[in-house]
Amino acid sequence: MKVRRGIPVVDGVVIGEAFLLDAEHYRVTQRFVKPRTPEAAELELKRFQQAATAARRETEELQAKVSGEVSSDVASILAYIGMLYEDPDFLAYVERRIGRDHFTAEHAVSRRVAIYRKEWERHEVTRNRLADLDDFERRLLKHLLGEKHETLKDLKAPVIVIARDLTPTQAASLPLEWVRGFATDQGGKTSHTAILAQSRRIPAVVGLGSITGDTVGGELVILDGREGRVIIDPDPQTLAKYEDRQAKFARYLLELEELRTLPAETRDGHRVNLFANIEFPEEVADALKHGAEGIGLYRTEFLYDKDHPDPSEEDHLAAYGRAIELLGDRPLVIRTLDLGADKFTPEGYEVEANPFLGCRSIRYCLLERQDVFRRQLRAILRASARGDVRIMLPMVSSLEELVEARALVEDVKQELRAEGLPFRADVPVGIMIEVPSAALMADVLAQNADFFSIGTNDLVQYSLAVDRVNSRVASLYQPAHPAIFRLLLGTIEAARRHRIPVSICGELSGEPHFTLPLVGLGMRDLSMASATIPKIKRFIRSISAVEAGRATDAVLGLADATASQEFLHRRAREIDPALYGL
Ligand code: PEP
Ligand code: MG
Repeated sequence: MKVRRGIPVVDGVVIGEAFLLDAEHYRVTQRFVKPRTPEAAELELKRFQQAATAARRETEELQAKVSGEVSSDVASILAYIGMLYEDPDFLAYVERRIGRDHFTAEHAVSRRVAIYRKEWERHEVTRNRLADLDDFERRLLKHLLGEKHETLKDLKAPVIVIARDLTPTQAASLPLEWVRGFATDQGGKTSHTAILAQSRRIPAVVGLGSITGDTVGGELVILDGREGRVIIDPDPQTLAKYEDRQAKFARYLLELEELRTLPAETRDGHRVNLFANIEFPEEVADALKHGAEGIGLYRTEFLYDKDHPDPSEEDHLAAYGRAIELLGDRPLVIRTLDLGADKFTPEGYEVEANPFLGCRSIRYCLLERQDVFRRQLRAILRASARGDVRIMLPMVSSLEELVEARALVEDVKQELRAEGLPFRADVPVGIMIEVPSAALMADVLAQNADFFSIGTNDLVQYSLAVDRVNSRVASLYQPAHPAIFRLLLGTIEAARRHRIPVSICGELSGEPHFTLPLVGLGMRDLSMASATIPKIKRFIRSISAVEAGRATDAVLGLADATASQEFLHRRAREIDPALYGL
């Protein structure tokens, strides 16, 4: 029996036979067209064009096949890969290399993809798309080199797929009737492959290191997507234990499903409103499916990417319109651009020594690119005529910033009025509380903001001086730190005193062990990743506001983060044991 630990990405316990997916890399042996004549280059060019067309068509067919089965987010990943085959920059490079330098098509493709890879590795957003790039390259090389890898189609028994890494299209085409789960050597929590697995509900563990070296295929495998564990050749005792867990997990999912239409209400009648965080408008459908009552955080900077480095007002408006259409009357909190640092870095953006502390987010919008900011404000205001839209400013660190941004909003309203364009005059303008200075000045800011939303992801980073994306200091990133609770308490009290709504949209909203103190602090609006809504709802329905208050008092009395963390986990385990092991 071998036990391996990795990163859990999709919850679930599954058992099946190992299916080792061929991880062979395509090898490009011939680099130059022979003979080096224009005619030979012409033929090579034709061969490339045929392969690119075939690869694009195959991606489109896959997209059509899985549409309806997967979220539109997934469909857009496939559409994106399909578009890469027609990217003018890519085509021009390959055609030039073949025509001028007599590269073989394979060599030209691999060279261009290697350049893309270097560029994409530099930024968080594109880094997460590297698997898309692999997919794109492999499919094209398959057509050029004439190899076929379709063995998954021959499955006749339930399997756990084991692979070095899975590309998004591989994850999208895994046959659900046979594939119980997958485990990979590589991968991260926020990759597109993980998104696909989540969307298709395939239990998965990634980042296992060398799981492909531990199997030859055919062994019995247990995959625990909750704990991030993969067990190869389990002994009978372990197998029996996991069979029991598998049955319990199935019951747990059924129980969550039964709560879908019920309110998130404590046992003593306190209603908590659960909203979803989204990056793309198409995610609204999934959010509603999970029971979201609206969108508490729309991260609009995801409208920007390498292919859309400068979205127009109409691009913004179209995206907001798509979200509103799906939401109906439900609220849509649109966060203005939070560009820079861990998010998309616009073209021409200066390299900084400390990007998290630099000219990013609202600072970039106010100090350097008011044109970009105004363009977005125009689109948000115009969208406000169509639905319950609210404006949220990120990373506000002083009253001056809030005042200046609000003045710009008013100015843009004047402009729209003059142009006769409709908007809602009293659209709420709120701020994120994610910088310690804002939390400490919450009483002042509350008099100038229509609502607060506490962004704990950054609040923790800035308060504890721990880079949220640096794995070397990951153990110091402690949301349960008493300092964070003090900042939450001060902010919530200030909002209450000045009678403005306050919510939390950082990841800890979706962590059940924080639910008790958040409810105890009086939080009644929480916004989180859609998939976490059902388990938070179940947790809320199991507690009373009175016991939540007691837990909050207890945690506020603790002096160190470890004690606080242990206390919260212990209480959460007592309340809903199904969250911890099965
Ligand atoms: C936060 O910082 O808590 C937040 C919700 O925003 P983001 O994760 O997008 O920085
Ligand atoms: Mg933030």
